Amino acid sequence: MEPMSNHTSLRIGGAAEIFALPRDLDSLKNIHLNLKKSNIPYIALGSGTNILIRDGGIAGAVVLFRSLKKIETLREEDEFIFIHTDAGALLAKLVRFSQEHGFSGLEGLAGIPGTVGGAICGNSGAFGYEIKDVLVALEMMDREGIVSWRRAEDIAFGYRKSGIRPEEFILGAEIRLKKDHAEAVSKRIGEFLRTKRERQPIWEPSAGCVFKNPPGTSAGKLLDEAGCKGATIGEVEVSEVHANFFVNKGNANALDFIRLMELVSLRVEKRFGILLEAEIKILGREIAD
Ligand SMILES: Cc1cc2nc3c(=O)[nH]c(=O)nc-3n(C[C@H](O)[C@H](O)[C@H](O)COP(=O)(O)OP(=O)(O)OC[C@H]3O[C@@H](n4cnc5c(N)ncnc54)[C@H](O)[C@@H]3O)c2cc1C
Repeated sequence: MEPMSNHTSLRIGGAAEIFALPRDLDSLKNIHLNLKKSNIPYIALGSGTNILIRDGGIAGAVVLFRSLKKIETLREEDEFIFIHTDAGALLAKLVRFSQEHGFSGLEGLAGIPGTVGGAICGNSGAFGYEIKDVLVALEMMDREGIVSWRRAEDIAFGYRKSGIRPEEFILGAEIRLKKDHAEAVSKRIGEFLRTKRERQPIWEPSAGCVFKNPPGTSAGKLLDEAGCKGATIGEVEVSEVHANFFVNKGNANALDFIRLMELVSLRVEKRFGILLEAEIKILGREIAD
C-alpha cells in the first residue's frame, strides 16, 4: 500500500494497493504483463499535478512513469527540429531543453508542472499554446501490451483532453519545434512565467485549474464574480489569488475538495446559468474496501 498523497501536488489521496515504478521499457512490459495476467486494474501516473485521488485510494495498481525521462534530438529538416522525449520526462525539462537550443513551440507551456505523458493525456496548455500543436507521433502501449507508434493527427485532441483511453500508456513522443534564437525563446518564456507567478498561487499545494473554461469566458472569472474566493470546506480553500485554484491548507481530504467543487459550481450555476466542467481528473474510490 502506498499513500497517493505522497505522489500528488495536492498532497491528497488514499493509498494505492500496488505501486509500480518501472525503470525502463522492459520492466514496464513485465509489470503490464503481470497486471493483465492477474486481472488487476491500473492507471498511469506522471507527477500527479492534474488529479484528485479520492480518500479510499486506488483499487489496483498505479504505474509511475517518472523514471522514463530521456530527451534527445532526432534530426533537422529545413527550419524544423525533431525531438524524442520519454513520457516521464518533466515538461519543464523539455521546455528548458528547447530554450537552451533556441527551439520555438513550447514557450506557453513554461511553468506547467508535471510530465510530458500527463501533459499529452490532458492536452495541457496556456497562453494559446497546447502540447498537441508540437506532437508528430506518440509511442503507445495498448491494453494488450502491444507497443506501436501512432500519428498525433489520429488521436482526438480537444480542449484539455485527448483520445488516450484508460489503461493505454503513452511511452514517448516525437515532437517538432521550429528553429529560432535562444534569446527570443527565453524572452517569451520569461514573460509567460512572470504572468503565471503573478496570477497563480504556485507556492501552495494545488492541482492547477479545477474547472475548464466554458466557451467564451473563464471559469476563474465566473467563480470570482460569484464570490467564491476564500470559500473553505475543511482544509480546502478557494485561493484568494485565483478562484479556479483550490489549495490544501494543511491536511485536506478529497471528500472536502469534491464538496467545495459542488458548492462553488452551484453558486456559478445560480448566478450565471453556466454548468462548470471539471478539468482535474478525479480517480479512486470513496472508501477503501
Ligand atoms: C501550479 C499548477 C499550475 C498548472 N498550470 C497549468 C496550465 O497552465 N495549463 C495546464 O494545462 N495545466 C496546468 N496544470 C495542471 C497539470 O500540471 C498539467 O495538466 C500536467 O501536464 C499534468 O501532468 P502530470 O504528469 O502531473 O499528470 P498526472 O496528474 O500524473 O496525470 C494526469 C492524467 O494523465 C494520465 N497519464 C499520466 N502519464 C501518463 C502516461 N505516461 N500514459 C498514459 N496516461 C498518463 C494519468 O492517468 C491522468 O489521467 C497546473 C498544475 C499546477 C499544480
